[in-house]
Amino acid sequence: EAESRVINFGAGPSALPDPVLEEAAKGLLNFNNTGIGIAEISHRSKMLIRDQLRVPPTHSILFLQGGGTAQFSAVVLNMLARHRLLYPDLPDEERVMDYVLTGSWSKAAVQEAARLANGTTVNIAADARTLSPDGKSFDRVPPHDAYKFSENPALIYYCENETVSGVEFSHNEKDPESFPFELLPQNTLLPLVADYSSSFMSRPIPRLADHAIIYAGAQKNLGPAGLTIVIVRQDCIVDVDAAAKLGAIPVPIGLSYKIYAEKQNMPNTPPVFAIYVTGLVLKRNAELGGLAYYEAANKRKQEKLYEVLREGEQKGVLRPFVRPGSGSWMNVVFEVLGEGAEARFLTGAEANGMKGLKGHRSVGGIRVSLYNAVTEEQVDKVVAYIRKFIAETQS
Ligand code: PLP
Repeated sequence: EAESRVINFGAGPSALPDPVLEEAAKGLLNFNNTGIGIAEISHRSKMLIRDQLRVPPTHSILFLQGGGTAQFSAVVLNMLARHRLLYPDLPDEERVMDYVLTGSWSKAAVQEAARLANGTTVNIAADARTLSPDGKSFDRVPPHDAYKFSENPALIYYCENETVSGVEFSHNEKDPESFPFELLPQNTLLPLVADYSSSFMSRPIPRLADHAIIYAGAQKNLGPAGLTIVIVRQDCIVDVDAAAKLGAIPVPIGLSYKIYAEKQNMPNTPPVFAIYVTGLVLKRNAELGGLAYYEAANKRKQEKLYEVLREGEQKGVLRPFVRPGSGSWMNVVFEVLGEGAEARFLTGAEANGMKGLKGHRSVGGIRVSLYNAVTEEQVDKVVAYIRKFIAETQS
């Protein structure tokens, strides 16, 4: 059946590697014979994540549910509880949550913070839109001088890769479009929270140890939807009930890190299928060479695509949505210029077995998602298609 599969360039849930799907299919037929229980599989998967991402012993790895959306709420509730325990006497309006706005997913996180704030303050530390030519597009990572962080915030939030508009922080720390770690308040346990939903396991995480929380749904680079991975520094796994007694917002069981972190504790039925397939993907990653392998492959993949986009831009056929330097490795967004040209682009791509290329409705255009399971051969194919499209459109 593998031959009948199309190339899925969609933004997620994304394709999975064929060998993993084949093994999963066998595993489903013969799962009980393995003698492996789901708790063991979950433990093994956590070890593989720890090894591949080099998660230090200061941080726990939790398997939760509810996706990135549940984490929009969980990070607020757990970090406000922590702040309450650290500073019980601080008036609520002086408790501040700092958010960096670079796209629609960080905006969604801000909206949830505002819903739950309950008298505490939501501060926008930087808003990338104000820097764009029309004042309303998320087309870049803000330069370092655009940030205004608070002095002692309960959390500092950013979205590493904005899946919709295709804006991602550069990982070169000398680069102005990298995350400005050096501007953060230099107190010891930084309350830094990162949404890695659409870039998790695509390359190493810079300054991982400086983060309080890093979270991601499995469904882009790792496995089926249903599993949410949360890497949390142990000082952020707090007794939310003690905090509630001091006036913090009560935290529902399913969102409390402490309940999930307690040894052997499984407060609810885990998403067993998602954990099983994620485990297979992690095992395969390790065999291929881990994150170093994916970082190199993903670097080459996006370079080829941005190169052809530059050609298309010079010839007046295409226009990248994001400024050079802020472009995502995982979701590459661009416009096809001219009346009817986008529809022609999409129809031609489908006819060549490439799907999922239509951009998100809020920004339009084309979005090519290059998650780990998209191979270099598949990228070559889409690049060749774009190059041919440029030539045909010009003539
Ligand atoms: N954050 C980012 C960057 C995303 O791309 C998504 C979904 O695509 C979400 C959060 C929401 O995640 P979920 O659908 O797992 O709730």
